[in-house]
Amino acid sequence: MAITANEERHAARAREAATLAQDELNTADGKMGDGDTGVMLRRLFGAVAAAIPDQETDLGSVFQACAKACASGTGSSLGTLVTVAMMTLAKATKGRSQIGWDELGPLLALVRDQMMARGGAKLGDKTVVDMIDAVANALVDVRTRKEASEAARKAVIETLDAFRDRPNRLGRARMFGERTVGLDDPGMLAFSRLLVAVAA
Ligand SMILES: [Mg+2]
Repeated sequence: MAITANEERHAARAREAATLAQDELNTADGKMGDGDTGVMLRRLFGAVAAAIPDQETDLGSVFQACAKACASGTGSSLGTLVTVAMMTLAKATKGRSQIGWDELGPLLALVRDQMMARGGAKLGDKTVVDMIDAVANALVDVRTRKEASEAARKAVIETLDAFRDRPNRLGRARMFGERTVGLDDPGMLAFSRLLVAVAA
């Protein structure tokens, strides 16, 4: 059991999820930002899905193509973090035609650390980094697609619940201070919607 480069359907699912979640994410972002998270993500994953190369067996090359599509598709802070994620995955999977389910957690931990280094978020700031940290931890020791799917879906729900009543501590949302208490962070919400669609 492994994840191979023949996973175009995952990118297609992410694109569909981003389209479906567009209004919800714009609304969430509108409460603590400029209200563009939904439209940005729909554009980004539209570009990513279109960029997946046919017949490519090297996972690193697939993620590299995704990173390139992201980098030319967005100037937003969340979009930049998606690019960082794709670049990190490209480097980590270069030359590999498959990865095991038990490697997903450590790969996401690597993505989390690169995002923190590039974006300046710390754990607990109520950003997408907290969501990725939770999923990385939840995926430690999973062995099958079913185990990974269940653990990740449980983690995103629990993490949205755990952070909802805390204030945002980074970026534009931070200026809304205590008014962000009770609201989902749009980046965390976006990751949870994409993950649930991809893990389905
Ligand atoms: Mg925004």
